[in-house]
Amino acid sequence: MNPATTTAPIPKLSIGPGVIAIDGPAASGKSTVGFAVAGLLNYLFFDTGAMYRVVTWAALDQSADLGDADAVGQLAETIEISILPVGDAQDGRHLTVLVDGRDVTWAVRSPEVDQNVSTVAAMPRVRAALSQHQRLIGSQYAHGHAGMDGIVMVGRDIGTVVLPDAPLKIYLDAPVTERAQRRFLELQKRGKSTTFEQVLADMQARDRIDSQRAIAPLRAADDALIISTAGLGVQEIVARIVALATNQPFNQ
Ligand code: C5P
Repeated sequence: MNPATTTAPIPKLSIGPGVIAIDGPAASGKSTVGFAVAGLLNYLFFDTGAMYRVVTWAALDQSADLGDADAVGQLAETIEISILPVGDAQDGRHLTVLVDGRDVTWAVRSPEVDQNVSTVAAMPRVRAALSQHQRLIGSQYAHGHAGMDGIVMVGRDIGTVVLPDAPLKIYLDAPVTERAQRRFLELQKRGKSTTFEQVLADMQARDRIDSQRAIAPLRAADDALIISTAGLGVQEIVARIVALATNQPFNQ
């Protein structure tokens, strides 16, 4: 996506379908686009990837055996994860992630978590625990809750498994080299030492595990609108989704 086209504001709107599901592979733009759409519609932005990241981060932090699916499953069932709106933080985050009151928003985005999260996310007990929680949040916010008019939920299986009745489903995609380049620049900005080749290899491995796992693999729902984000500006994609959500014509 071209960041140069992200600046002009779009007027705030307050009508919409209540639930917007956005799925797609790593660094396809889900978070940037979903966050902007949610802001314009006064919806809660909820990134389900953060939950899988928290479980992975906690397992690594406790030196748990990542080969022991039952132990990691139990961790997913018992850990207290809070996904909160950004609040006053101005460090580029799209949400705040707390575990037992500790802010782990950036800790869960480390290369080490990147390398292990897909293995954890393929574990049946982990998926059962987290998707049940996500479904609950989705139904809570679908008709407005806590001052919000709805929810934008992003992930890999939101349109297919977590909220299959979502009235608006989007699937964002882009070539893996472009996605890896975006993630590489992001990591560099945050001072993480890695190489493009390493980021690309990690992303290819993650894509493979996410799309080939037995439970809730990454795929577009049959009724999802597929948008390729390569070469498109964030604002254009956001405007298109907001137009769909509010039944307005899209003419860019
Ligand atoms: O979106 P993000 O890259 O933060 O997601 C991290 C990982 O969490 C994904 O690679 C995937 O393995 C897992 N995930 C998932 N289902 C979701 C969201 C994320 O399996 N709904």
